[in-house]
Amino acid sequence: MIEKTLVLIKPDGVQRGLVGEIISRFERATLKIIAMKMVYADKDIAGRHYADDEAWLLSVGEKAKKSQEADGHAVKETPMQIGQRVRRQLMDYITMSPTVALVVEGHAAVRLVRKIVGGTSPHHAEPGTIRGDYSPDSYQLSDSSGRPIQNLIHASGDPTEAAREIKVWFTDKELHAYKRVDEDLIYRMGGQ
Ligand code: GDP
Ligand code: MG
Repeated sequence: MIEKTLVLIKPDGVQRGLVGEIISRFERATLKIIAMKMVYADKDIAGRHYADDEAWLLSVGEKAKKSQEADGHAVKETPMQIGQRVRRQLMDYITMSPTVALVVEGHAAVRLVRKIVGGTSPHHAEPGTIRGDYSPDSYQLSDSSGRPIQNLIHASGDPTEAAREIKVWFTDKELHAYKRVDEDLIYRMGGQ
């Protein structure tokens, strides 16, 4: 199934000069860039991207709590409190300097991008992933510094999230259709 997904190279990735390195990883993995721009996000776009959605706030908080507890750290906040705090921190982070926004397309692109990006906490992310290779950050380090985990990338979590998020950053006209030269080989039919 060909899917589209949203990738943001967050301000830390842009400031660290990792834009080219990050984009080349997606391109080499056969993902097609169908939209791209640099955006200095304001509070409006930040608030629409990190929407005040109860299910999302809870999922962020539950994942954080589970990871912290697995590492033997007691967590006092409820998942909802964690989600709300992290959302406030993300709004400042994503508006602090420019972000590079991309839409990439390919077979099972949502999952493929998440695999290339790696887990939320770079400290736990596998080597070979973008987060695992380029950031030392963790829940512990970021929480003790009162900021979100600086993990370089945002990547949509599932196709529904991708469809919603693409509309936050791009108009339909900004999504381009073209053919990559390797598509015939990658997606070829039997007998060809
Ligand atoms: P992602 O889909 O892997 O980016 O992770 P989430 O959607 O769960 O969280 C969104 C972003 O919030 C993450 O990429 C981190 O930058 C940040 N974040 C999530 N959980 C925490 C947390 O417990 N503490 C801090 N400081 N930041 C967090
Ligand atoms: Mg997410």
